[in-house]
Amino acid sequence: MRPFLLPAALVCGALAAPAFVLSQSAPGDQVSPRAKQLHDRAIVVDTHDDTTQRLVFDKTFDIAARNKNGNIDVPRMKEGGLDALFFSIWVPSDVTGPPAVKRALDQIDAVHEAARLHPGELLLATTAADVRRAAAEHKIAALMGMEGGHMIDDDMRLLRDYAALGVRYMTLTHFKNNNWADSSTDKPAHNGLTAFGRDVVREMNRLGVMVDISHVADKTFSDALAITTAPVIASHSSCRAIANHPRNMTDDMLRAVAKNGGVVMINYHAGFLSEEFRVASEKRSGSIVESMNAMSKRCGGNEACTTMESERIDHEAMAKGELPKVTWDKIVEHIDHAVKVAGADHVGLGSDFDGATMPLGMEDASKLPKITDALLTRGYAEKDVEKILGGNILRVMEQVERAAQSAERTPKTPR
Ligand SMILES: [Zn+2]
Repeated sequence: MRPFLLPAALVCGALAAPAFVLSQSAPGDQVSPRAKQLHDRAIVVDTHDDTTQRLVFDKTFDIAARNKNGNIDVPRMKEGGLDALFFSIWVPSDVTGPPAVKRALDQIDAVHEAARLHPGELLLATTAADVRRAAAEHKIAALMGMEGGHMIDDDMRLLRDYAALGVRYMTLTHFKNNNWADSSTDKPAHNGLTAFGRDVVREMNRLGVMVDISHVADKTFSDALAITTAPVIASHSSCRAIANHPRNMTDDMLRAVAKNGGVVMINYHAGFLSEEFRVASEKRSGSIVESMNAMSKRCGGNEACTTMESERIDHEAMAKGELPKVTWDKIVEHIDHAVKVAGADHVGLGSDFDGATMPLGMEDASKLPKITDALLTRGYAEKDVEKILGGNILRVMEQVERAAQSAERTPKTPR
């Protein structure tokens, strides 16, 4: 159903009701009892999170304990009613060949180990049914998505191995092109997907690995949609009509994903939410560049350090007025735009927690009920909010699982 704006009197009435206050809350964190109830009832799924880098690089990080830094850990996920999280398996685009494979396997192992070490809190999940079971057991479903097709090292067997280890989506590229697909943030080299790239999409369909079109060039996007026999996802992309970044989706792309039956999961990164922030951060000068350079030198190859320090530097720059302040309600603006263009059945949440610069007011997963509250205030029906929070991605997972089961019977397996 199409959302509508409530008359002001009704909105004020909702705000006048006694508000539920998030623990460790800041002014503006209050949500209505109705929003709290709906949020608790819904299965909330986030399809993109980079905490895996902390699991690998930060030996002091305990995901089961409340941490002072970062965006994600079990206590804050529970507080924010986050029921399922896709841990990203990510290696920078310039790491290729066997070193990329080794690093991907290290990360997959780290997610498996986190679930093994915290069986009371986390449940390793690979299907929509697993996610529902975890929610019923009051555990957080830990899923895995791969960010960048370069990690298959141009070898279909590795794609099958990753799938066997539990990886359930793969962005075809990361920031740079690989040998078979063009990225949205690189110069086109293949005019979209090569013949091998098209076979990768077919094999992902057969394996039940969701085809993720976040990060890909617009032509790669349309090539992938032309081939896939299952719905696709954008695991962490926002709307280009609001912030003109090539990582975001145009309105035509949003409509194409809706037609395909897929889902676009809105990214919370300040530079993808706000056009002003994007333009200003691309023009960064003087002290910010110096601090960024000093940071990457300090962090070396430690990707957990790099992303967390980048966020700290961006937030400092916002506080000093060197970058525009981006607030969390921008997330809701993007959700609302995507819903208006693609429909409420095709939008979800893909935060990029622990891998990006969160907007002010969405400092960690504990703040998520504010999104539910804001959607209700905008007049969204409860059933549509439930779909956006997780129902849509669960539906797509089930469709992809069914498509894989019927494709299993086809004898031809590309190599
Ligand atoms: Zn990404």
